[in-house]
Amino acid sequence: MKRELGLGRCGLACCLCKENEHCNGCMSDQCPDREWCINRKCAIEKNIGHCYECTEECRKGLLGKSKSYGFTLFVKRYGIEELLDCLERNEEKGVVYHREGIVGDYDDFDDVEKLIEFIRTGER
Ligand code: SF4
Ligand code: SF4
Repeated sequence: MKRELGLGRCGLACCLCKENEHCNGCMSDQCPDREWCINRKCAIEKNIGHCYECTEECRKGLLGKSKSYGFTLFVKRYGIEELLDCLERNEEKGVVYHREGIVGDYDDFDDVEKLIEFIRTGER
């Protein structure tokens, strides 16, 4: 895990992204998806660093996906350092962020509260 990369503007975990061998994270503007990313454009327009700093209840762009939305909600509740601590601990326990392509153990949660519980415990 490259903890220093933290989360992208949209809430995806640049710190665990398999592309981070070549990409220095969302803030470096090297993301291959940067041109079409609605969350990046909107956060820049609002002059905020990340969607988790935004006061709007929003499911635009990547926040339509359970993973980005769940990570964003987690940070709003518990803070970014707590999220990074959990992701680091879970990785050590064998939880994989990108297992097949861009899908891994944090994906496919229908209930955001279950995802938040999984982030906190590493158990599902
Ligand atoms: S490809 Fe996108 S999600 Fe992955 S590290 Fe780069 S900016 Fe982050
Ligand atoms: S309105 Fe939505 S996309 Fe825009 S900064 Fe806020 S949370 Fe992000």
